[in-house]
Amino acid sequence: MIPDTTEVLVIGSGIAGLSAALAAARNGAEVTIATKASRPSGASTWWAQGGIAVARDAPDLFKRDIAAASSHTSDPEALDVLVEHADAAVRDVLLDTLNVDFDADAAGFDFGREAAHSADRILHVDASTGKHIHVPLLRHVSAHDRVTLLEDTTAWDLLVTGTTVGGAWLESGDTVTACRAGATVLATGGIGALYGVSTNPDGATGDGVAMALRAGAETADLEFVQFHPTVCVAHGDPFLVSEAVRGEGAHLRNAHGERFMPDVHPDAELAPRDVVARAVEQEHERTGQVVLDVSPLNFSGTFPDLAALCDEHDIDPSTGIPVQAAEHFLCGGVDVDTRGRASLDRLYAAGECARTGVHGANRLASTSLLEGLVWGLRAGADAAASAIQVATRAADRSSVRRRERPTASARASASSASLPSRSAAVWRPSGVRRRPT
Ligand SMILES: Cc1cc2nc3c(=O)[nH]c(=O)nc-3n(C[C@H](O)[C@H](O)[C@H](O)COP(=O)(O)OP(=O)(O)OC[C@H]3O[C@@H](n4cnc5c(N)ncnc54)[C@H](O)[C@@H]3O)c2cc1C
Repeated sequence: MIPDTTEVLVIGSGIAGLSAALAAARNGAEVTIATKASRPSGASTWWAQGGIAVARDAPDLFKRDIAAASSHTSDPEALDVLVEHADAAVRDVLLDTLNVDFDADAAGFDFGREAAHSADRILHVDASTGKHIHVPLLRHVSAHDRVTLLEDTTAWDLLVTGTTVGGAWLESGDTVTACRAGATVLATGGIGALYGVSTNPDGATGDGVAMALRAGAETADLEFVQFHPTVCVAHGDPFLVSEAVRGEGAHLRNAHGERFMPDVHPDAELAPRDVVARAVEQEHERTGQVVLDVSPLNFSGTFPDLAALCDEHDIDPSTGIPVQAAEHFLCGGVDVDTRGRASLDRLYAAGECARTGVHGANRLASTSLLEGLVWGLRAGADAAASAIQVATRAADRSSVRRRERPTASARASASSASLPSRSAAVWRPSGVRRRPT
């Protein structure tokens, strides 16, 4: 049942929301997580493939790679926070708390490398890292004494008084409840479902950004959308072929069998994602097809999960995996500072719905799980402190005025059922190569 009050309300149960809930609970707050997902696969986190990058012993090189991939549009202060907290956060949560079994051999972790990384620094579990992180994190956080997880529960709007956020309207079954909170953390993920072709799950409808905008919070960089260059669309069901496959030596070829990336960028297939995505889109249009030629590597031995996915989709990798560019990641979002604080009081955002400044215009591969983890922990800790302070001022709670309850028709028009008609309108002006409408 949805509670009327909670100290910290977290909206979303991907890596960002769960990390925020964990940190808030560790810092003594009572936490309610509302998530519209009924299964872990409702979050992009579950689908993550390549892995999670760490700094190892070269933090400056890591920062340089992220900044270069963004064409130097990322925010240096945000980069410092991400990189300086990366290894400690991964060690604390993923290794010491969850015991994630990252691929390793006798010499230690098998650090991978993906496009535009200049060092081997990516922890992974085969090419299905997300589920190996998400499932134990979900289990661990939902078992915490101070955490209540509400599944199949959708947040529709924030409760706002002036410039202060005091919780959200939550819907479960036929009931819509105003859940008042000392602090509210948006962790609703991306916007992929607004596009015709995306790697994201269907629930990635940009709800957190929309709620923040309606409440009057600042957003930034919403035009910075990342497209993944190697998405296989078979039988209308897109699946991502991780950059790690190109990292292991796979080549992109057009319909004439020509390898085109060496003429586009000195790093060829390992150029930054935006460069590869535009080239793939262009060759697709020019020649009619682009395939990922996996013959230079032992594909099924190195990527058994991807080989199984190809099999499920009747694709024979030995003849090349047909690929195209598809929406993948929102770099912008709710504008937050280094503690995840948004421009409205007691409102926080973390993960893909937040704009921390780390990614600038283009995200470096395998840095978003890390950003969700680091900012989730920071936002959760700060939210706990702010919520506990509010709770000591009882009068403050009663002063949070209820916003108008969202009507059934408003909820229906914002639901993913109305999305197909929108996706075509989104692709043309804000696709891989933008065209005027
Ligand atoms: C196929 C794929 C592969 C990827 N591979 C990698 C990778 O290898 N490495 C990497 O770093 N990143 C990768 N990414 C990106 C990364 O997975 C995501 O950016 C990251 O997981 C986002 O985490 P999040 O917690 O912000 O959002 P999500 O994990 O998407 O979670 C969002 C949550 O919010 C809930 N929600 C949404 N709206 C509402 C609402 N209104 N009310 C209640 N709940 C709501 C959803 O149900 C979900 O639980 C990949 C993404 C995809 C799709």
